[in-house]
Amino acid sequence: MEMEELIQETKVYNCVECGKCNATCPISWFEAEYSPRLIAKKALEGFIDVREEKIWSCMSCQLCSDRCPLEVDYPKFIWGLRAEALKYGIEEAAYVNELEQLFLDGEMDKDIGIVREITAGKTSVEGQDGGIVTSLLTAGMEKGLFDSAIVVHREDGFRAKAIVAENVEDVIKASGSKYQFAPTVERLVEAIIEGGGKRIAIVALPCSIYGIRRIQKVFSDVELYTIGLFCFENFSFDLLNLRVSEILEVDLGLADKIDVKKGKFVVYIEGEEKSCDVDELQEAVRESCVFCTDFTARLADISVGSVGSPDGYSTVIIRSKKGDELLGLLKDLETTSVDRNEIAKLAQLKKKRGVEKLEEV
Ligand code: SF4
Ligand code: SF4
Ligand code: SF4
Repeated sequence: MEMEELIQETKVYNCVECGKCNATCPISWFEAEYSPRLIAKKALEGFIDVREEKIWSCMSCQLCSDRCPLEVDYPKFIWGLRAEALKYGIEEAAYVNELEQLFLDGEMDKDIGIVREITAGKTSVEGQDGGIVTSLLTAGMEKGLFDSAIVVHREDGFRAKAIVAENVEDVIKASGSKYQFAPTVERLVEAIIEGGGKRIAIVALPCSIYGIRRIQKVFSDVELYTIGLFCFENFSFDLLNLRVSEILEVDLGLADKIDVKKGKFVVYIEGEEKSCDVDELQEAVRESCVFCTDFTARLADISVGSVGSPDGYSTVIIRSKKGDELLGLLKDLETTSVDRNEIAKLAQLKKKRGVEKLEEV
């Protein structure tokens, strides 16, 4: 896509330089030189250089576009600039690899990232797929590794809301997958600013972990434990609710649990189980997800997901000493073997889709 066309399509020409995107963007709060407003302005003035590192600061959280008064689709605009950067041989992988070297320590696997240990695990704690995330957070909090944890609660039915959990009860309330994006990084940044560098754990999607590592790079005082969730794609709640009510004739807001397994989207509601193909929900997928290439949360201290494990277990990938330390707290951990090929296959598929979509821009 030519620059002029990209500017038109993403409505960058609407920009009035109000600066709301900068005020909203968790990355620009820490990376002083990163300014979505300025990047939009430079593009409008014809001075944008797609070889600048700045265009790789964005983590596609869409907070700026949600709050832009002139409907500028800034994340899509950034993906368009990245597509241009590809023509100069500049790829996302270079920035991810730099962060991997900085924060992680283990053997490199080209598909699933740095690995110190990989296993399928479950604990006695009730939670989705083995209760691993809940167990890690409660154990870390009880042993004093961190004072709070950024997690996602349900609100208004099944809408995801990122919160700062200060106690084990709030951590337990967050168990269960939501399959929606929630602004965990925004909550983290608020917690850092308000708490002055407390020790914090965060459970987040791969895109958010990328943003967190960029923040950590310039704000090294913060003591963080990052737990990444496997993610192939994610939904916007309002669109998902609408689509699910059309296909399954249920109100997602009343669901007890939702799950994505083997290509099916499953809703557990009023003692029943209703499901449809995930492919039928494509119009509810967040726009940025189609460009995303990270399935396994390559930059997290520990990555967790159901793919590759038997029912009732979670796959757990340890990628750093902090990850080791955290997993070591689980005294009731039961383990079994992981199907590493299954994880690699999905990771390759996601990468292929992201690269192809970027080349199409
Ligand atoms: S919020 Fe929208 S209009 Fe305001 S500076 Fe950012 S892109 Fe421009
Ligand atoms: S999408 Fe998120 S990270 Fe990217 S510029 Fe907007 S607010 Fe910042
Ligand atoms: S697919 Fe990527 S961009 Fe979308 S929510 Fe998952 S990690 Fe984030």
